[in-house]
Amino acid sequence: MAGCRRCLSIRLSGPEKEFSDDDWMGDMTPTPLTAQQLAALDDVLRGMSAVQLAWTSGYLAGRLSQGTSIGETPTGTSDIVAAQKAPLILFGSQTGNAKGIATKLQTALAAAGITANVSDMASYKQASLKSEQTVIIITATYGEGEPPEGAELFHKWLMGKRAPELKGLNFAVLGLGDSSYEFFNKTAQDFDSRFEALGATRLLDRVELDVDYKSGADAWIADIVAKLKAQTPSVSQVSQHAVATASTVSSVWTKENPFTAELLVNQKITGRRSQKDVRHIEISLDGSGLTYKPGDALGIWFSNDASLVQEVLELTGADANATVQTLRGAGTISDALTHDFELTQAYPGFITKVAELTSDERYVALTNDKATLRSAVTDCQIADILRANPVALTADQLAAALRPLQPRLYSIASSQTDLPDEVHTTVAVVRYAVDGAEREGGASGFLGSRCEPGDTVRVYIEPNDHFRLPIDPETPVIMIGPGTGIAPFRAFLQERDVIEAKGKSWLFFGNPHFTEDFLYQVELQDYLSRGILTHLSVAFSRDQPQKVYVQDKLRKNGAELYRWIQDGAHIYICGDGQRMAKDVHAVLLDIVSEQAGLDPDGAEVLLDDLRASGRYQRDVY
Ligand code: NAP
Repeated sequence: MAGCRRCLSIRLSGPEKEFSDDDWMGDMTPTPLTAQQLAALDDVLRGMSAVQLAWTSGYLAGRLSQGTSIGETPTGTSDIVAAQKAPLILFGSQTGNAKGIATKLQTALAAAGITANVSDMASYKQASLKSEQTVIIITATYGEGEPPEGAELFHKWLMGKRAPELKGLNFAVLGLGDSSYEFFNKTAQDFDSRFEALGATRLLDRVELDVDYKSGADAWIADIVAKLKAQTPSVSQVSQHAVATASTVSSVWTKENPFTAELLVNQKITGRRSQKDVRHIEISLDGSGLTYKPGDALGIWFSNDASLVQEVLELTGADANATVQTLRGAGTISDALTHDFELTQAYPGFITKVAELTSDERYVALTNDKATLRSAVTDCQIADILRANPVALTADQLAAALRPLQPRLYSIASSQTDLPDEVHTTVAVVRYAVDGAEREGGASGFLGSRCEPGDTVRVYIEPNDHFRLPIDPETPVIMIGPGTGIAPFRAFLQERDVIEAKGKSWLFFGNPHFTEDFLYQVELQDYLSRGILTHLSVAFSRDQPQKVYVQDKLRKNGAELYRWIQDGAHIYICGDGQRMAKDVHAVLLDIVSEQAGLDPDGAEVLLDDLRASGRYQRDVY
């Protein structure tokens, strides 16, 4: 550079000045533009009003902050690029479906020349919302109308007093739910009405989808693309603040294209007299290239039991060999009932569809009011509805009324650092009786009762970035996992063992009886004796007249737990989300309030802060 004497001229305002490259060291900023670019710029700017110049200056600053080059517009169109912010696709995912649709929408928008940002609600900076121009919400609802774990803080903030005015923001909401639950798609409804109440403008009416969401999601994506294309005169760019999007796992094996794996071990780990049948399952991932981290879940596709399929055929009188259409193509109804349709979970849609197809009085009567419909599908299976309300159905009617079978997710109970070619999980086999008929859970029955070592199982990995060990192995961890909630903590301990982590760890485990239900007892005691596990607190609920739960053990150790939190411990809860996780949360609030001398609101803020910083994570079902 020192020997270069190339001279440039700049003439934006004021007298023309000549300078050389040596001036780069002085207080004058030279232009990096070529003489031609400068002349072109000058031409464009000449005659602009002060307002136009100010807008252009802001626009260029915006482009600079986005780190993009105007020449790099992805479509290569010659449209004038407006100062529009990239649309934001914000998802709240419980089982990965909302995340999958978000990614699909992003791809569809890109194909239409619109580059959108995608962000998980969990990692989105709330304060940025008021500066967005277009926000597309895709959210699941789970349990009793609750937001997905990762969306909870964003939902709470938006519903609260601190949410900003959103005038000038355009939005659309897609909800994913399960119509077998009472508060179907409640979270989507919450977002939809709140955005409107905050002054935002609805781009499209809210769409609520059920478990068989695929075709509805595709149609909604097409509508959103058309809407955004129509209102976007130009190409949007991905801004630098685009937050981490979806999963990092890239394997050819996915939910839609699962890996056919060999089942290695199916071992009952509860005692002979236990009221529970809990299985330790080991599956080979050899040759799959699948990778997972502690905290991830294993997706399992299952088939329905042959005797259940037979029962449904007999109850309806459908011809087992009749051909029907499924998502896989044409096949016999018998095969479709085995592999393609949900039989072990009843849902309102089955009854309404049968009523519509047959006009059968009993089914029509069941659809008369919501409460009757809901109670007809509670705690029973499709065969139980058919037994209670006999109706003749053809194979086609049956196929039209049933919804596609969905895989089930199980928390992974192993560390791939320790076992590169295996994945383990812990499965409670669901068994119950309905009017004398013995019933089993879909996937848990398949794995627990019907799969033997050597059989094949179709699996995939569902990453869960909201349930991760601390990056620093010295950080203490507090793990609360009664029942099958122990699964991810077995993975955590295995991982910490193999990487020789030095951080302290404390496990709270509970189950009915010490002698029958102490899952992984030998392993846990080994971890304890080797110091991999610092403390093990157990709550065997039925070993004494009064129930004792994990939260009782937490309360008893409140002062020590609070010291761990002050030392930077990460807190994890895994297991039943309907009662246990809520009750444990309430006790954590009490402990924090008591130990830190905070009122209930203060304690909640403290736990919310821990959550926001990833120090309080939950994997509940
Ligand atoms: P669980 O039913 O959650 O019981 C574990 C322990 O928690 C028992 O000692 C139980 O005591 C106690 N408990 C009950 N209510 C509690 C509360 N409010 N707070 C704290 N502790 C409480 O055990 P699980 O075997 O893991 O079953 C969990 C449920 O999740 C099952 O319905 C299962 O089907 C389902 N599920 C399991 C999986 C899986 O297997 N990986 C996956 C998805 C869903 P008492 O029973 O004595 O009251």
